[in-house]
Formats: sequence, structure tokens, C-alpha cells
Amino acid sequence: MIIRLSVKNLHFGYNSTEVLRDLTLEVGDGQIASIVGPNGSGKSTLIKCIDRILVPSAGDISVDRCNVTKMKQMELAQMIAYVPQNSLRVFPNTVFDVVLMGRRPYLGWKGSKRDDDVVWEVLGLLGIDNLALAAFTELSGGQQQKVLIARALAQETGVILLDEPTSNLDVWHQIDVMEILRSLVRKRDLTAIIAIHDLNTAARYSDIIVMMKKGKIVSAGKPENVLTGENLASVYGIQANVRITEDIPYIIPLSRIPQKTAGFKK
Ligand code: ADP
Ligand code: MG
Repeated sequence: MIIRLSVKNLHFGYNSTEVLRDLTLEVGDGQIASIVGPNGSGKSTLIKCIDRILVPSAGDISVDRCNVTKMKQMELAQMIAYVPQNSLRVFPNTVFDVVLMGRRPYLGWKGSKRDDDVVWEVLGLLGIDNLALAAFTELSGGQQQKVLIARALAQETGVILLDEPTSNLDVWHQIDVMEILRSLVRKRDLTAIIAIHDLNTAARYSDIIVMMKKGKIVSAGKPENVLTGENLASVYGIQANVRITEDIPYIIPLSRIPQKTAGFKK
């Protein structure tokens, strides 16, 4: 494994208040890193800083040892792809055209045979080639999510960022999307960074869990070392049963810890 994505001493604020504070993190190729943490802890902000939708106030981000903080947009888009949280933007297009948008960093505006081939290939990988001519807006949530992942894969980047890719999906589609992602990450040696709420899904599919609270990384490492009862208490304010089976922690949330209880620092 080689280090693909490296984030060093990253800071960001929307105004004078810092939202990300001194984040440092490394993720290798062929790895899935899940970012977890309560609402508002900075997961989406971190992902947007990595994709430079937001500009950090300090710190460095590199991909394959190339500093991407000052890279041109098109060059960056050949290294990092981003699947936004919910695509409220309506694509009045066919599935094929939406996925072809992922080829923009290579296209200019005029497509080539190679671009078409890549689109067909990723549609096949995700098992949605039968939907190529369907209207994006008429698909179910699960199908739309796969199309957006296909668009990111068509970008042929080493790093793929996903903001809550499973949050609107039923359990069958959650497993489906995560299985597909994991197999692609392994097969293509990709690096996936996933902001995710569901701790059990994160535990099952991630090589690394990065747990955030109030803009800071509280704990990072293997799922069984991060998703501990202690961390769930101090970060989420909940009491939970954690059972580890074959290195995978299974979390059963039991109750809230009253916020005034000693030991729970908000
Ligand atoms: P998460 O994805 O973990 O729920 P976010 O990254 O969306 O958290 O938000 C982190 C913090 O930044 C929150 O306190 C949130 O209120 C604030 N924030 C998010 N987006 C904006 C924005 N566009 N302007 C000002 N503050 C924002
Ligand atoms: Mg978010």
C-alpha cells in the first residue's frame, strides 16, 4: 500500500469561527476511509476542502505526493472525483449523458469514442447499462445514487469522495452500493473517502474510520479501535453495546447520556 491522499494541518472557517481545526490524515490506495461524527462536526466541509470546492485557510492536501492546493481545476478533476450528498440539482438528461459529464476533464466539450467506451464500461460495472437511455429524473433514489457514482468513476481519478452515499437508500441498496464501492476500490486500487452516518455500515466496509467532533479528529484507525463504547459516549453522547465479531464492531445504541453527567464534555 502507498499513501495516496495526505491531508496536513488543515484549517477552515466559513467566517471567523473555525469549522475544521488542524486536521491531519493519510489514506492509502485500495482503501476506504469513512468519516463519521455527529451532525455539524465538519464531515461535508472536510470533503469539500479536499475537492477544493472550499478553500482551506491553512494546511496542505496532496494526492500521490502532488500538492493539489494550487492545481488547475481540470488537472485536479483528473485526480479527485466528488459525489455530492444529495443531488438536488436536476439533470434533465439521460443516464448516459449524466455519466458522460464525468469525462469533462478529458473532453473539452466534444466526446470521443474512448469517452463513450469509458461510460459504457462504468455503467456495466455498476450494473446499470440497461438504464443508459432512461431519464435521470425518473429513476429511484438507489438508481440515481449509482448513476452519480458512475459519473465519478468515469472521471478515472485515484481518489473518490462520497458524501453520505447511502443515507437515502433502503438496506438492500445500502449493501448493494457499498459492495460495489468496495469491490471497485480493491480492483482499481482507488482511495475512497466516505462521509457516513451509519456506524454499522462504516464499520463493515471501511479500512479506516476517522471520527470527528466539532471540527477535530478525535480518533482514527481500524474500525474496532475507533468505534469503542468510550468514543461513542464522548463523541455522540450515547451509551452503546459494541460487539466485535471477526474484527468488525457491531454497534447497538442503547440510550442517550444526559448531557450534564460528569465526563460528557459537550
Ligand atoms: P457535517 O457534514 O458533519 O454534518 P458540515 O461540514 O456540514 O457538518 O458543517 C460543519 C459546521 O459548519 C456546522 O457547524 C455548520 O453549521 C457549519 N456550516 C456548514 N455549511 C456552512 C455554510 N455554508 N456557511 C456557514 N456555516 C456552515
Ligand atoms: Mg454533511
